[in-house]
Formats: sequence, C-alpha cells, structure tokens
Amino acid sequence: MRMVMLGPPGVGKGTQAALLAKAKGVPHISTGEIMRQTVASGEELGKRVKGFLDRGELVTDDVMIEVMRERLRQPDCAAGFVLDGFPRTLPQAEALDVLLRELEMELTHIVDLAVPESVLLERIQKRGASGSGRSDDTMEVAKRRLEVYQAQTAPVGEYYLQRGNMIKIESLAGVPEVQAEILAAVEQSESV
Ligand code: AMP
Repeated sequence: MRMVMLGPPGVGKGTQAALLAKAKGVPHISTGEIMRQTVASGEELGKRVKGFLDRGELVTDDVMIEVMRERLRQPDCAAGFVLDGFPRTLPQAEALDVLLRELEMELTHIVDLAVPESVLLERIQKRGASGSGRSDDTMEVAKRRLEVYQAQTAPVGEYYLQRGNMIKIESLAGVPEVQAEILAAVEQSESV
C-alpha cells in the first residue's frame, strides 16, 4: 500500500493514518511529526521552521519536498507507506509524482477524510486542552490552519480527484468505526 491520506486539521488524519499503517505493516509518515521533531532537536532547520508551525502556516515547499525526498528513499518505504500531511500544496503534489517516478513507485490509494468545520475547531481545541503539547492547538492558530487548508491544500484534493482514484470518507463516527470504513473501502478498491 502506498497511500496519501488527505483531510483538514482536526479531522483525525493522524490517528487513522497511524492505525492503518500498523494494520498494513507499513511506515506512517507524518510530515507534521517530522517537523515537530526537527524543531525539538534544535537543529538549524528546526529554528527556521518553528515560526511557521507556531503560526499555523505551511513550511516552504522546497524544504518539505527535500524532507520527503530523503524519507521516501529510506529502505522501510520499499514495503509501502501511509503519507499523513503531505502533499499539502499543488507544487508538493507534483513533486511527489516526480519523486515516485524516480523511485519507480505509484500511489495505490488516496483517502480524503471530511467532517463539518465546526467539529474540526472543537476537536482541535479539545486536543489542545487535553495536553497535546502542540503549540498550534489553540483556537486562534487552529482557525488560521483551517484557512491555510482551504486556500492551499483543498486544491490537492481536486488534483487527485481528477485522476479518479479517491476514496472519500466522513470521519464523524468513533475512531474504530472510521478505521473499519477506511479498511473496507481500501480492500474493495484493491480487489478491482
Ligand atoms: P500537522 O501535524 O500535519 O497538522 O502539521 C503541523 C504543521 O507542520 C503544519 O501546520 C505546518 O506548519 C507543518 N507541515 C506539516 N506538513 C507540511 C507540509 N506538507 N507542507 C508544509 N508544512 C507542513
């Protein structure tokens, strides 16, 4: 399985991507997590990207594409992967196509998770209140992240939709129910 998991902040992408990757025995690659680790490490790159994360803005495409170029070349990706949080802009989606071509790989599934916007803000706020430790889980930054998602990331959904291989799932039910729905949809599309 070589999957891209799409959806706005707060939709449950990270939770679902982690469960799915575990079920399928492939790495869960979260670019948000990679960026948070980079910031925590105190590396030069971390210092450069911290402000973007704190403000809810996207890190620049050239940085993200380079990070993914390195990550996808790691040997564990030969078994497949679930990408969570990448691509987040059209240039990233195009760069991913180029990267995968270089690696002689193709995406097998695109999953797009959705819930109403009011639910997203509520979930992010709860996550912050319950000690996620994320500097961007405040109401103010969450609103900015949703704006950024609409402006820069929603077009990525359109990009994949045009290829006609997208699985759309409403992520309103509990975590296990949504996971079961994703697994069922993935298996159905695998058998086509
Ligand atoms: P996430 O955990 O996926 O919500 O990502 C947290 C933050 O990391 C985002 O708000 C961005 O600042 C940064 N980030 C993660 N993935 C990307 C990406 N593909 N492009 C640009 N910035 C990203």
